[in-house]
Amino acid sequence: MSAPTPQEIARETVKRLAARKLPPTPEHFSTVYHEVAGTRPLKPFPLEHLRHIGSALPDQTPAQQRFKAQFGKAVTMHSWDDLEKALIQHLRQSAPSHERKDMIPVAVVEEVGLPPVLREQMCRIVTFALPALGQDDPKIIALGEELTQYLRQDSQDPDTLRKMMSDFAFRLSFVAEDQAAIREALLGLLRTVFENIQAINPENPWLQGQLEALVQATQPPLALRQLEDVERRLKSLIIKQIEAQQQTLAAQQTMKETLSTFLHKLAQTTASSEEYHKRFEACAEQLDQASSVAEIAPVLQAAIQSARGLAEDTRHTAEELSELRSRAEHAEAEIQRLRNELDQMSAMASHDLLTGALNRQGLADVVGKELARSDRSGTAVCVALLDIDDFKRLNDRLGHLSGDAALKHLASVAKASLRPHDAVARFGGEEFVVIMPDTQLPEATEVLTRLQRELTKQLFLQGSEHVLITFSAGVVQVKPGESMDQIIDRADKAMYSAKRAGKNRVVAA
Ligand code: GH3
Ligand code: MG
Ligand code: MG
Repeated sequence: MSAPTPQEIARETVKRLAARKLPPTPEHFSTVYHEVAGTRPLKPFPLEHLRHIGSALPDQTPAQQRFKAQFGKAVTMHSWDDLEKALIQHLRQSAPSHERKDMIPVAVVEEVGLPPVLREQMCRIVTFALPALGQDDPKIIALGEELTQYLRQDSQDPDTLRKMMSDFAFRLSFVAEDQAAIREALLGLLRTVFENIQAINPENPWLQGQLEALVQATQPPLALRQLEDVERRLKSLIIKQIEAQQQTLAAQQTMKETLSTFLHKLAQTTASSEEYHKRFEACAEQLDQASSVAEIAPVLQAAIQSARGLAEDTRHTAEELSELRSRAEHAEAEIQRLRNELDQMSAMASHDLLTGALNRQGLADVVGKELARSDRSGTAVCVALLDIDDFKRLNDRLGHLSGDAALKHLASVAKASLRPHDAVARFGGEEFVVIMPDTQLPEATEVLTRLQRELTKQLFLQGSEHVLITFSAGVVQVKPGESMDQIIDRADKAMYSAKRAGKNRVVAA
């Protein structure tokens, strides 16, 4: 049987209205029409009123925001069912927790899902944790990515989410353990390498100092800045090693050659002069005994020959000596060339050989890294330029070597008294730069003042004399977008005002 047409339904509707004696109002017609057709009557939907209520709903908390969104969606869809569902859920959720415990079936809670803010935070935790686990385990990376993608979908199935999270947590537990073990093993290896280098070169105090600093820098707790320092020190160390080795080899070779040629020549000269001496003596004896020109002639002949031989040998020796000299000159030129090459390589080093502080190259490296870090994290960086007071006078009074020792003393007191993440660089002759990350200007000034105090406690000992080293310093806080030259320039100006104000003081600008 085919479905009745609208006309047939309408006809039947009119019949039933008449049979029931109902007046033909639109409401009655609609109700009986649906009854005949077997369909559900359309309920009137007060769209404008509901929209108005929807817009007035509060949206302070995530639950309120969720409810408001569900309400709005149901209104747009003209769905009484969805409106009803949203209302019931919201009322159940807003009940105090002690009342809710027994009231809400688990299925309802699970349907609600996690608030978007919470899901986003979970995504962030996973995303930020992944790089720390390295690239060694592709599975954890895949699991993490799947999880974040799933969390960012509109809704989640609780069982799937629970399973994904437990898979990720399980994998994470042993990947994190592995990474910690790998890190520990690498550090151990690094320390063994340092200790071995130390054992190979026990007589070089500079190397020993650097290596001790390296061993120290690889003690936990590790920080990125510490490892960057390790890298810089290692570069300096390698260059210094090459330098020491090449210079030793070149010096050894030249010494060996000179000594052997000298001995050879000495033997030759002694041997030939002895022989000629003997020949001349023989000639002299024969001359003594000669009684005629005929007897003298061959003796003279022999003497002239010996003299010629001697001259020849001497010339030969002279030639050999001149060749030796040119060889020595050549060797010297070669050594000079090597030295120039080393000078260029030393420019790559980042530490000053006298004081062990960073050199300009190292300073630029550290400042670059700290400025980038401060840009990212929004933390302040301060830089100080300090210049030793009356250093020329100290040099004049105690000598240049003592001046050098004073520079070393200042660098070592500075390194010991500054905080581990501060860095010290030798900027020029008796000028140093201190870089203070995560530091505001008043705190930076305090750091420098503390260094001043420390220098009055740890006096520089020269022979039996205790010498007080003082400095004048300019401290600045880095401004956004400032270049290293601009920073140093401002610090320099502040330092000069400290000098003008009477030295031995710190000026913040
Ligand atoms: P002021 O208090 O104004 O800074 O006076 P000053 O004497 O410290 O400054 P000045 O610039 O007149 O002199 C700096 C001296 O530092 C001159 C130079 O011989 C000495 N100097 C620079 N580099 C070194 C170095 O490596 N070793 C030694 N011993 N002296 C150095
Ligand atoms: Mg100076
Ligand atoms: Mg000075």
